[in-house]
Amino acid sequence: MAPFSPEKLLRDRLGRPPGVLRLSLTARCNLSCPYCCPDNKEPEGLLSDTERVELVAVAARLGFSKLRLTGGEPLLHPSLVELVRHLAGLRRDGLQEIAMTSNGQRLTPLLARDLHLAGLDRLTLSLDGTTAGSVARMVAPASKNSRGAHCLEAALAALEAARDAGFEPACGRLKLNAVIIRGRNDDQVVPLAGLARRVGVELRLIEAMDVGSRNGWSPSQVISADEIVRRIAAVWPLEPMGRATHATAARWRYRDGQGLLATVASISQPFCGDCNRLRITANGIAHTCLFSAEGSDLRQPLRAGPDVLRAALETIWSERRDRYSEERAARLQSPNSAPVHPEMAYLGG
Ligand code: SAM
Ligand code: SF4
Repeated sequence: MAPFSPEKLLRDRLGRPPGVLRLSLTARCNLSCPYCCPDNKEPEGLLSDTERVELVAVAARLGFSKLRLTGGEPLLHPSLVELVRHLAGLRRDGLQEIAMTSNGQRLTPLLARDLHLAGLDRLTLSLDGTTAGSVARMVAPASKNSRGAHCLEAALAALEAARDAGFEPACGRLKLNAVIIRGRNDDQVVPLAGLARRVGVELRLIEAMDVGSRNGWSPSQVISADEIVRRIAAVWPLEPMGRATHATAARWRYRDGQGLLATVASISQPFCGDCNRLRITANGIAHTCLFSAEGSDLRQPLRAGPDVLRAALETIWSERRDRYSEERAARLQSPNSAPVHPEMAYLGG
């Protein structure tokens, strides 16, 4: 196969280049966050790790130079360290960065070190509260505070393990994600910012999204990024840094020099216009948009060899025209026309 050639500029129908591949390793999860609703069973026909590496290699050569491993919960993947080690061998194919998003519940100091040594560049951990009660509400409906206390403790231990393993927060290699839902954990906005400031990690506060078809999302659950920033700035003043092209997050600098904050405003300020992300489910279905009902099955092209796979990916990307979040407002006016979205834990965020 020809080496990755940056001159060959792949663009979708809206002129957007490829950039980030989000690869789901499993649809299963050890938590059941009510805004995400994992199935806890795998879809039919999971890809093998060898197929995953082949897929990432071909995608990297097309310009998907950043990879994010996700799920479900990627730490449930049995051969994760080995997979990361093989993926790290794809730098020569144009793969510049390997990141992972995880709830951290299974991240021991040893696993964090092994992942770092294997070549994982960045880690984003998810935690939606700072108290046993708020975490319990966010990790599983009707779970007890004792479960929340356990999950909180595990997430804090994971942050420490990751930092000790070499995921340096000051270089952006370790970040914290939190989804904010009005009436469920919005009392945690300021405490989460305080926690992130103390630990020294960038906190990314995410507007609750209408992913899937069973999380009961309604616009009233959304606390806009503007409101989130107002609440935090009232305690620790912030100055805006803007949103980099292709990024999901807008960033803010604490005026007292105590680090950075980020907001992901896919509801109130959609960023479809420069979206460069392609999602691949654990069973090899490609979705160009988090909200696209239909995906393209890559298993047959994968098994037919790199040239066929490359052609399939080029076709998928060059025909892409979705911009669901920008069209959301219109869709909300006529809810009956809304498509059925795949669930977040299947697509992987
Ligand atoms: N299990 C891992 C975790 O929780 O980090 C990785 C998969 S999870 C689907 C990836 C990210 O999506 C998490 O940070 C999670 O908080 C976020 N997420 C899930 N459902 C969401 C929703 N409805 N709205 C906004 N973010 C969501
Ligand atoms: Fe699991 Fe992550 Fe979904 Fe929560 S957001 S249920 S941790 S996959």
